[in-house]
Amino acid sequence: MEQIKILIDLQEIMTRSRTVETEKRKVPLEVADLKALFEEREARFLSAQQEFEQLKKDRREKEREIEEERDRVERAKAKLMSIKTNKEYYAMLKEIEGTKRANTAREDELLAILARYEEAEKRLAEFKAEVDEVGGQYRERMVDVEAKMASFDKDIALLTAKKTEVAGRIDAGLARRFEMIFDRRDGVAIVPARNQSCTGCHMNISPQLFNLLQREDRIHTCPNCNRILYYEVPEEESSGE
Ligand SMILES: [Zn+2]
Repeated sequence: MEQIKILIDLQEIMTRSRTVETEKRKVPLEVADLKALFEEREARFLSAQQEFEQLKKDRREKEREIEEERDRVERAKAKLMSIKTNKEYYAMLKEIEGTKRANTAREDELLAILARYEEAEKRLAEFKAEVDEVGGQYRERMVDVEAKMASFDKDIALLTAKKTEVAGRIDAGLARRFEMIFDRRDGVAIVPARNQSCTGCHMNISPQLFNLLQREDRIHTCPNCNRILYYEVPEEESSGE
C-alpha cells in the first residue's frame, strides 16, 4: 500500500529531524563549563573594577580636601601680616595649627587609601588578564559551537523541506493525524503488526483486525495505542520471493 510506504518514509524523516534537534540542543552544553567560568571571572573583574573606581573617587576627594585646607592655611598665613593685636595674632596661629593637624590626619587617611588603591589597581589588572584569557577561549569555542549549530540548522531545514514534500503526497488529514500520533507516542506513529500484536505497545490485536491489515486497502490503527498499523510479511514468507 502506497500510503503506508509514504508514512514509513515520513516517520524516518521526522525521526532524523528529531535526532538532529536533540544533537543541536546538546551543543551549548559543550561550552557550558567555559561559559560559567567566563561569567564568574567577568563578575569578579566587574566587582574589582567597581571597588577600584570607588577608591579613585575617595582618593580624589581626599586630595581635594587636603588642597583646600592647605589653601586655607596659606590664606591665614598671609592674613597674619595684617593683624594688629597679639590676641588676634595668637588666635590665628592657633587656628592655623588646628588646620595643619587636621590635614595631617587627612594625609594619613590618604596614605591608607593610596595603599588600597594600588592593591586594587594590581588586582584589577590580574583579573582583567584572566577575564581576557578565559573570554578569548570562550569566544574561540563559541565560533565552533555556532558553526555546529548552523550546520544542524541546515540539516533541519533540509529535513523539514523533505518532510513537507513527502507529507504532500498523502491526504492532509492523514498527515496531520500522523504528526499528532508521532508527537504523542514519542516519535513512533506507524508500526508493523507482528504475531498478531502491535509492535508499538505489544498488545494483542484481534484476528479480524489482523485480517483487515493483510488486505492492505485501508489505514488501521491500534485500538490500544492509536498508532497506525501495517501488515509486515513474516520473514519465512518473504525470504522465498
Ligand atoms: Zn499499539
